[in-house]
Amino acid sequence: MCGSVFEVEDFLMNTNVEQKIFGHAPDVIYNATLKKLYELENLMSFYRDDSEISLLNRFAGKAPVKVSGELMLILEQSQKFTILSGNAFNIMLSPIIQLWRKSGAENKLPSSECVKKVLALCSSENLVLDKNEQTAYLKKKGCMVDLGAIGKGFAADVCHEIYKNMGASSAFINLGGNVKALGNRPDGKQWTVGLQHPDKPRDTCYGVIMCADQSVVTSGAYERYQKIKGAKYHHIVDGKTGYPSGSNLKSATVISQSSMQADALSTAVFVLGLEKGADLIYNSDCAGAVFFTTDNKVYVTKDVKHNLGLIERLPCYKI
Ligand code: AMP
Ligand code: MG
Repeated sequence: MCGSVFEVEDFLMNTNVEQKIFGHAPDVIYNATLKKLYELENLMSFYRDDSEISLLNRFAGKAPVKVSGELMLILEQSQKFTILSGNAFNIMLSPIIQLWRKSGAENKLPSSECVKKVLALCSSENLVLDKNEQTAYLKKKGCMVDLGAIGKGFAADVCHEIYKNMGASSAFINLGGNVKALGNRPDGKQWTVGLQHPDKPRDTCYGVIMCADQSVVTSGAYERYQKIKGAKYHHIVDGKTGYPSGSNLKSATVISQSSMQADALSTAVFVLGLEKGADLIYNSDCAGAVFFTTDNKVYVTKDVKHNLGLIERLPCYKI
């Protein structure tokens, strides 16, 4: 017998957060996750003046800043994923991301000189971490960190730990597309995570991933974009060019026990494209990935092929 269930949706970390918690006193477990999510928002938010990230960004080019153990961990892991992905994932791209946001608001394309100049601030080497002193330092004025591509994954992992430690029999969290499941569903079957069709209205899935104790994270061009002079510019930047990535993917889904890893690598894979993205997945300890290409084909890495169920009739290949 699994006790009772608590299902709730909140708006936090700039996204919808859906939780389903099964076990005894699931409401108490929910209260603990909610408190933690607010704390993480205060830590990582780019837009809150009082967040640790804002403090770090304000002191760019001035002085190292003391950071909490949690932020140090996220920054260290981010650097690891930057190296692993050959810079496709890079939290230092924030200045260029801000340039594109500003361009969207003004409906004016940035000049290529401007993109080049801003890109010079985005090298991952401009972030220096000192573990002994527990400090982080942005070496140049104008450098900024943006945890938009990894923070929700970290938060999903933290909530998963809370579910486990507080004795939930089974649980599910969806932080704006970052999904992580604890155990199986209460009926003993695996959880089913829908894969959004990149070209269809929200909640129209082209397939599902069946999983237990895993995280499933998707990055896609369709998720967020802005229009400049009538053309769409999506939110994931290729650090090599400074422009929204133009790979051969419409979306990339990564399956891993670690949601932080799945989050970082789904962004990286989306930038790298199908072939290099698949190499990255095989060179990591992720369970696998599903790729939706610009010519509307689905590719899946071999270890998760049996976890994928297609809803739409699409050509599907192993990679
Ligand atoms: P995600 O939805 O996890 O792929 O994250 C996308 C968000 O991360 C964007 O809205 C930006 O804030 C930021 N971002 C964009 N491009 C990159 C990149 N190449 N590496 C790291 N973060 C990025
Ligand atoms: Mg991500």
